This record gives sequence, C-alpha cells and structure tokens, in this order.
Amino acid sequence: MRIETTLVQVPREAGDAIAPSSPPIYQTATFRQPSINERGAYDYTRSGNPTRHALETQLCALEGGHVALAYTSGMAAITAVCRLCAGRGAIVAGTDLYGGTYRLLARVLAPQGVDVRYVDATQVEAVRAALARPAGLLLVESPSNPRLDIADLRALSTAAHEAGALLAVDNSLMTPYLQRPLSCGADIVLHSATKGLCGHADVTAGAVVVRDPELGRDLAFHQNAEGNALAPFDAWLLQRGMNTLAVRFARQQQNAADVAAFLSTHPDVRSVRYPGLGTHPGAAVHASQSAGGGCVVCLETGSLEASCRLVEALELFSITVSFGSVHSTVSLPCRMSHASMPAQVRSERGLPEDLVRLSIGIEDPGDLVADLRRALATAFAAPEMWPAAM
Ligand code: PLP
Repeated sequence: MRIETTLVQVPREAGDAIAPSSPPIYQTATFRQPSINERGAYDYTRSGNPTRHALETQLCALEGGHVALAYTSGMAAITAVCRLCAGRGAIVAGTDLYGGTYRLLARVLAPQGVDVRYVDATQVEAVRAALARPAGLLLVESPSNPRLDIADLRALSTAAHEAGALLAVDNSLMTPYLQRPLSCGADIVLHSATKGLCGHADVTAGAVVVRDPELGRDLAFHQNAEGNALAPFDAWLLQRGMNTLAVRFARQQQNAADVAAFLSTHPDVRSVRYPGLGTHPGAAVHASQSAGGGCVVCLETGSLEASCRLVEALELFSITVSFGSVHSTVSLPCRMSHASMPAQVRSERGLPEDLVRLSIGIEDPGDLVADLRRALATAFAAPEMWPAAM
C-alpha cells in the first residue's frame, strides 16, 4: 500500500458493532471489566486506549516500524527515548538540534549524570570518532532545525551499529511522507507530531517508532509507569490531521520550492537554505534518502536588524515558534525556538543570529512571494519605512 492510502486507512477496533464511518473518540479514562478477575482489551487509558492505539498502529505502518507510541509532546517522546537509552551509555547528539532538545540534554540529563557529547552530524568521520568512546545512543535531526543540515542516515546507522549504539532520528521536519529513517537503518524515529504530522497547529503531541519489538516493549512499560501517553481527544485530532498529510505536504513542498527559488535570486538575501535546492551542500545525500525538500526554508540577510524588520513586516506569515502547519509562519530561531541555547553555544555551532526560518503553508504561492517581496523591500528601505514595532 502506498503512503497516500495508509494515511486514510484508519485501523478499526475488532468487533465494533456500531461501525461509524469516521473513527470514534474513546473519551474515557476507564473501561468496565466483566468481573474482578476478567479484563477486556483495555482497562485504563494511561495504559492503553483504542483511539490512541489506532493512531499508533497507523504511525507504525507509516514509518515501517514494529512498535509506535504516542506521547503528550515531542519533548516527552524525546525524553522517553533519551532516558531509556542513557542506561545503555553516553548520548552522542548532533550539534544542530531543536533548542528544547538541547535544553533537555544540557540542562536536565547532563546534570543528572548522563554523559552527553555533541558532534557535527554532517561529518561521518567526526561521528565515528565521537562514537569511539562507548555510547548507547546517537541522536540526530535531518534536516536539522534550524540550519537544515543534512546527515547521511545510512552512513550514520552503520557507524552507530559498529559502535554498539542505536541511531535515533528526529523526523519532525520531513514526516514519513517524505522520509522514513528506519528504511535507512535507523533504530528509532522521533516526532514532534505538533508539526507536519498534525499540520493544523491545534495539537501538541509526540511519537516514537522503533524497529526492535523489545525496545518497544521497554518504552511501553515506561510510558505506562510514567504516565506521558497522548490523551484520546488529541490522538483523534492528530489522526484527523494525518489523513491529509500527503495532499498538504505535496502543496506545501511545491510552495516552498517556489519561495526558495524566489529568495535565491533576491539581491537583499545573502543566502538561502533549502534541502530541495541543488545549491544546498547536503542536496545529494538528502535526495538519496528522502522524497523532497519539505516545507521549511531558511534565509539570512546578513544583518540581525534587517532580519528582525523582515519578520515583523510579513503579513501572511504569522510570527510563530512552530512549523509544518497549513498556515505559513516565520520565526527568528535565535530569539525564539533556540533562545534556550546560550548565545555562545549558538555561535560555536554556527547558528547565525540573522537566520530567518519560514514554514510554508498551502496558500497561493504568488501571494506568499508577493508578501516576501514587499517585506524585504520594507526591511531594506530607509529607517522611516520600518514597521512601528521595530
Ligand atoms: N523536535 C523538533 C525538530 C522540534 O522542532 C520540536 C519543537 O519545535 C520538538 C522536537 C519538540 O516538540 P514539541 O514542541 O511537540 O514538544
């Protein structure tokens, strides 16, 4: 079955005599038992719920894994994996990561005694060197947020396995519609499902999909013990959003390519980062492991002030920390999603302060380009033309 079909084939509970055409929400905390000693398929929603189970079954099929678990947020999913894998040894993480993941590693796990090391995940030999000292987990994003760096997932999975570590890939920017890390040898796929999987910016959710059933059982045990599973209504909303992932992302990606092409020729734009552009340093590797550039485009103006003015002058792009929605959004990562990373660390990791991150929605591409053209003109006009907020 192709992914467009899997996305709308919602798994059904066996024996549902009502047979609704849309999947129901089992908005219940508990399930009645036939007797003290007998239990049905479910007893308590923290431990299992049919709405969440349907979502997890579908996520598993989409990513090609054996076990999928849905969490209350992307950070809850990443925390669950890092905490479990920390028992296997050190965590080696890519240097370009979502700011919240960095905060978890640097300010929660490291102070608790977890050995966390960082390495540029685009450099396979450097990753091998970092794994030369024992490690349990290699954690990367590809494309990374926000630099859109590309990691060679096949090479990294080989390097991780030779070193006895598991490879976890945060696939939030791509979704399984564009990239399936398990098929490249990764062991674990992570999602902030808040992003493209949901696509409507109305749910906060996370997901983990794994290949190894035993690892899946361990994660499920911890999820029940710790109580961080996704609630039924949010699971239902997320699944509803996933039904349209293929059509949304095809349109968003086409729009993103148009925006990237426009920005690439604009005289005031110093550089454009988009994995779908042939000029991206990771374009060939990305093309070998994914089906497209996705919906996030980054640009630099060469000036923090000009970038701030650009962000404030845009009208169709709302200033928002997230990405992946049907609505176009814009952010200045160093002031927003990556503000939790100290300025010195950002600078050491080559995260430009003037980097503007655009998430492209499903609007008319001509309208988006016109808005960008006008906002760039404002950003680079004489000071009296600047928006009041600046
Ligand atoms: N991973 C990436 C790449 C992200 O961008 C984010 C959030 O922006 C997360 C994980 C965390 O997800 P959540 O906000 O759903 O906890």
